[in-house]
Amino acid sequence: MRKAIILLIVISGISTAQILTGFLGDNLKKQIEWEEKFLKIPSAKNCERHLFVLTEEPHPAGSEAGYRVAEYIDSLFKSYGLNSKIVDYWVYLPYPKEISLELIQPYEIKFELKETAWNWDKDTYDDIFTFFNAYSPDGEIEAQVVYVNYGLPEDYEKLKELGISVKGKIAIARYGKSFRGVKAKVAEENGAIGLIIYSDPMDDGYMKGDVYPRGPWRPEDAVQRGSIYYMFEYPGDPLTPGYPAKKDVKRINPEQAKSLPRIPTMPVSYKIASEILKNLSGPNVPEGWQGGLPFAYHTGPGPAKVKMKVKSDWKIRQIKNVIAEIRGFEEPEKKIIMGNHHDAWIYGAVDPSSGTAVMLETARALSKLIKQGWKPKRSILFCAWDAEEYGLIGSTEWVEENYNDLVKNAIAYINVDAAVSGKNFEASSVPSLDRFIEEVIKSVNDPETGNSIFAETWKRQNKSLKQVSNPPDTAKIKFGRLGSGSDYTAFLDFCGIPSIDMRFTGPYGVYHSQLDNFYWMKNFCDPSFKYHETMAKIVGLVLMRLSSCDYLPFNYGDYADEIEKYIIDIERNYEVMLKTNGIDFGGVKEKIKIMRFYSDTLNLIQKKFPKVEVQKLEQKFTQKIGLPNRDWYKHRIYAPGYYLGYGTQPLPGINEALQSGNFEVAKKETKLLEEAIDNIVKEIQNFTKTFMEGK
Ligand SMILES: [Zn+2]
Repeated sequence: MRKAIILLIVISGISTAQILTGFLGDNLKKQIEWEEKFLKIPSAKNCERHLFVLTEEPHPAGSEAGYRVAEYIDSLFKSYGLNSKIVDYWVYLPYPKEISLELIQPYEIKFELKETAWNWDKDTYDDIFTFFNAYSPDGEIEAQVVYVNYGLPEDYEKLKELGISVKGKIAIARYGKSFRGVKAKVAEENGAIGLIIYSDPMDDGYMKGDVYPRGPWRPEDAVQRGSIYYMFEYPGDPLTPGYPAKKDVKRINPEQAKSLPRIPTMPVSYKIASEILKNLSGPNVPEGWQGGLPFAYHTGPGPAKVKMKVKSDWKIRQIKNVIAEIRGFEEPEKKIIMGNHHDAWIYGAVDPSSGTAVMLETARALSKLIKQGWKPKRSILFCAWDAEEYGLIGSTEWVEENYNDLVKNAIAYINVDAAVSGKNFEASSVPSLDRFIEEVIKSVNDPETGNSIFAETWKRQNKSLKQVSNPPDTAKIKFGRLGSGSDYTAFLDFCGIPSIDMRFTGPYGVYHSQLDNFYWMKNFCDPSFKYHETMAKIVGLVLMRLSSCDYLPFNYGDYADEIEKYIIDIERNYEVMLKTNGIDFGGVKEKIKIMRFYSDTLNLIQKKFPKVEVQKLEQKFTQKIGLPNRDWYKHRIYAPGYYLGYGTQPLPGINEALQSGNFEVAKKETKLLEEAIDNIVKEIQNFTKTFMEGK
């Protein structure tokens, strides 16, 4: 049923069977010619130059340096001939004012909250944000410490089994497994009065490999800063939930903001954590809790007792998104949107600037193509978001402001945050775009091996196969699904815009520390900037294909398959519970079957009826009634897990209701899911009917 157009073409001497779903007849030939021209343009040298400028100074959101970065991006877009403008919002951003930590029992140490300066690396000398978890409430507290492993709900369960409570204590958790805001929330729910989060050498330090300056992993004093914003409630400005934070808009009081955390929290290095952890008594930690520090971990409480002070400078600050456009020639109102944030905790070489360097180079290459006569049908937007680090703020405010236009006209959102931290290609997307991404990465080669990125990715994912040769024709690669943690969140979860997040990953231990800088990128990650160039080629082809295809290459049959898998998982995990509570997925499964059938029909008719707006089917998964207890999240198939934060929770309404034993909600959510799938089916039937009537 899923016929694809196969054409033999020659790119740089390699003969490749190339599939370009969505292109017909002459347009297919033209597209291939333009792509060949395009692939010659992106340059590693340019990416390097961009990254150098973007990482010149520490540039957190709302700072003068942050504005300079926004203006630099805006001026480059303009120099390429794009319509570019700065769009500002006024949002609630705390800056660190007074942060301190002391060990007061069993002996006294006042910890120095500073990372080492290295004489060969100029970017370790500046005056930068101290050890700071943004949105931690102000407070001065003193208590004994309890080690809570990763600070997941099940970790606190384990502690309870051991008879240990964190009530009235300060919890110390290691980074990893969940978003840091979730750690703060779970600590709060368990009665802790404060939280310290540290980077354990097991997770991104010497247990992984050589640490800076010998290697790419985290040294003893490098600290992961970051926001603990309760993003699982809603992302974006805390004081304007669901609407844009324009300058004079009415705001709620901070006390009313459900998204603001409630216990003082701060991050530390493993050098500092070690002084606290080695002074804990109580039982030895449960299996799997021992980290990489050179002593046996205990849970506490005490005798280690700390005094911690967090005080921020809370202000409404101006933030600046940069939005640039290549105008489409046939349907200019339709748009493909590419984005990445530009704010960084410190220098932000990997996170986020590698993605911005890629975006700038992609924009340059595509505008050059326009000058050569390329005429995309639809518009392309390049968006550099501000204040992502605080809580996806710039992108969320913009999406809230442009909601009506986006649900009508956006085709897809492509995110490229932290585009290069290594050489391994990874993508997360909605299932309808899996096959499309595969096609794109078959057309771009790995700069080191010369194999296609598809082949490299497939081989890496199938390492366990005895002899991994070249992928067979039927090969598929595995995709991640979108949770949260970057700017696609508002597009997908609030509007139902099909989204993709892509990156090259690798050994990256300096996340959110001052060492995530140009020197690190140049010495430990992508010295030649070839992977930056490669990502510009990949994203460029994504944008070229989606903006110029005759019909959109979305495959909802794959989506149906994926939802069915989630249902089967639930049935397996909760078998008894479902039976005793009369929860049944028969109706949903029936609807999925119909969805698959009609999706195949859709794939066929689309070629003859290219105006069908298949991208809008995704929106049928979003419903006015948001998820239980977090109404901002509208998508019924995907959301960040409430207790994961970054990780995806498929079928969040049903799964989370079952996890918490709330069967009435689970039943209601099952009905809503069935309705959503039914709406998709009806919409496809409408398309089919229009087609049959020859309109
Ligand atoms: Zn980022």
